[in-house]
Amino acid sequence: MPCSLHTHSLFCDGACSLEEMARAGVEAGLSSLGFSGHAPAPYDHAAMRPQDAGRYLAEIARLKERFAGQIELYAGVENDALHPFDRAQLDYCIGSVHYIRGGADAIYCIEGPPDAFTAAVRALGSVQGVVRCYCETVRRHLSDFRPDIAGHLDIIARLNADGSLFDARSGWYRQAEEALAEAAAQSGCIVEVNTSGLRTARREPYPSERILSLLRQADVPVVITADAHRPCDVAAGFDEAAALLRRLGFRSAMALRRGRFVPETL
Ligand SMILES: [Zn+2]
Ligand SMILES: [Zn+2]
Repeated sequence: MPCSLHTHSLFCDGACSLEEMARAGVEAGLSSLGFSGHAPAPYDHAAMRPQDAGRYLAEIARLKERFAGQIELYAGVENDALHPFDRAQLDYCIGSVHYIRGGADAIYCIEGPPDAFTAAVRALGSVQGVVRCYCETVRRHLSDFRPDIAGHLDIIARLNADGSLFDARSGWYRQAEEALAEAAAQSGCIVEVNTSGLRTARREPYPSERILSLLRQADVPVVITADAHRPCDVAAGFDEAAALLRRLGFRSAMALRRGRFVPETL
């Protein structure tokens, strides 16, 4: 039975309540579901407000009881790397890079509005400079903070689905993909296979098939996630992602069962 650990709700930029997401998990036949609201970050208006974090955790505690016997529920967050959340009260956390620093006080979103990406390019001198800074931010977050799950490892390519920003087959970008795989392998984190990329023009999950092959070679554990912002996406693309992983030689993917991450046969 699948497990879905990357989900959002009205506490951040999702479209439904935590309870509606839990119900969607039951209806999809999941045996576990984790809530991973965007942890508060002062520069991120789509994230949870700091004053709501206590209510978020309390509501998850209530739902754990309400849904006991139907589905295992877990309290997590999706951290932004530049502003990690205190993990003491969490069952797990996802560590993601959505923003990079481009100077002392300047922070740029690299996976949202194209004009923010353009501003980052201006601040860092080139697209290559932005990608380099992104990779270094990922490396540092994974090695210093060690989240349980490394979130959408190559989200830096999100705005490049049409190839208009850079050539994803160029030597320098291939080196960036290798650096991301290497950072994940060194960290010991589980890497998510985030199916949201399948629901866009990108037509492949995050990270790319090429990075997934490198992760396979390095024996890095993976977990399939949906990055669901709506109930209908709670397990979207899971079969396709599992088929891709099997084709690349993965035999198992991780799941959270009874509070522990365990490998399960694909
Ligand atoms: Zn994210
Ligand atoms: Zn997310």
